[in-house]
Amino acid sequence: MTRSVLLLPGDGIGPEVVSEARRVLESVNERFDLELVFTEGNLGGIAIDLEGQAYPESTRAVAREADAIVLGAVGGPKWDALPAADRPERGLLAIRSDLDLFCNYRPALLFPELAGASSLRSELVSGLDILIVRELTGGIYFGEPRGITSNAEGIREGFNTDRYNETEIRRIGRLAFEAARRRSGRLCSVDKANVLEVTMLWRETMESLREEYPDVSLSHMYVDNAAMQLVRQPTQFDVLVTGNLFGDILSDIAAMLTGSIGMLPSASLNAESRGLYEPVHGSAPDIAGEGKANPLATILSAAMALRYSLSAADAANAIEQAVASVLTQGLITADLAAVDPEATLVGTRAMGDAVLSALQAQ
Ligand code: NAD
Repeated sequence: MTRSVLLLPGDGIGPEVVSEARRVLESVNERFDLELVFTEGNLGGIAIDLEGQAYPESTRAVAREADAIVLGAVGGPKWDALPAADRPERGLLAIRSDLDLFCNYRPALLFPELAGASSLRSELVSGLDILIVRELTGGIYFGEPRGITSNAEGIREGFNTDRYNETEIRRIGRLAFEAARRRSGRLCSVDKANVLEVTMLWRETMESLREEYPDVSLSHMYVDNAAMQLVRQPTQFDVLVTGNLFGDILSDIAAMLTGSIGMLPSASLNAESRGLYEPVHGSAPDIAGEGKANPLATILSAAMALRYSLSAADAANAIEQAVASVLTQGLITADLAAVDPEATLVGTRAMGDAVLSALQAQ
């Protein structure tokens, strides 16, 4: 059965890193006989320039049919003067909402060679491998009512509403339980159920899913404690699931534990497990076109696409092992240069070549 992969290179370093991810995907496609069919489309600034909109109709039509989408990054100084509603970043919000991508996976995996890039001492992060599952389309960022009003004395008040219904909690909960099942079977749900009713319901609903997943061990933690534990003893966690606001903050804390932004992949999935896979970094206009960008975050995002949307866990594992192996060989890109001055500095294409060679050597 063929599966479709849409590549959206985007702007800045996006095309450079996506082209390496494509070569890696093509290599595992052949080796594992995956029958992946690739198409490319425009999103972001390039789409504004060529098609007049950040998320044009031509891209929308293909995106809605794609099993997985691999995106580079969007945005850059060329479009910064446009009104907010017309900017490239709007394309990203539009595709996420169009495809109802409510579930965000942010892994925080420490490659041993990069322990020196962590914000924590290496003994605290050795062996770190966390997956944060964040609800992406609900909660306080979208809840109504919201706004800024003035009272009779002219004193202004800002307010937002944190709301989740049971259906929204259950659907993110199920994907988190399934992710935990594929990993070590431990899931920690993060809330503030001692204070906030919305998260009391969150905790109750997570509990109600327990019987569907008897092989997963579920625990709960208040968000303030979770933030503390992430910097105290992060290796205690496997999969964390939480709402939009807490997930936003905790995933950035976890990112700092693993070092460079050039290494961080992410996935956003919908209820059919179709997803958008992208590096956490932006379009890095300061190094665009110089062939210096680290392609590993995008290559690791492509591996996540294989695991979560394309039912090809073996191919995903092979790519992740190949990435680990190039780091073991002492190859690094410029963003990691400070970690190990002895390592061999390579550019984007050479790093892609090294991952391909490591794959072939397996
Ligand atoms: P950025 O992530 O693009 O860059 C921050 C710094 O990290 C820069 O010095 C850059 O050179 C470096 N960097 C980032 N990725 C790298 C890589 N793969 N290899 C080596 N170095 C890398 O963030 P920014 O500078 O705040 O934003 C630049 C543009 O990207 C803006 O237009 C912003 O709106 C956009 N942006 C897009 C996304 C996205 O598409 N998801 C995310 C964040 C920012």
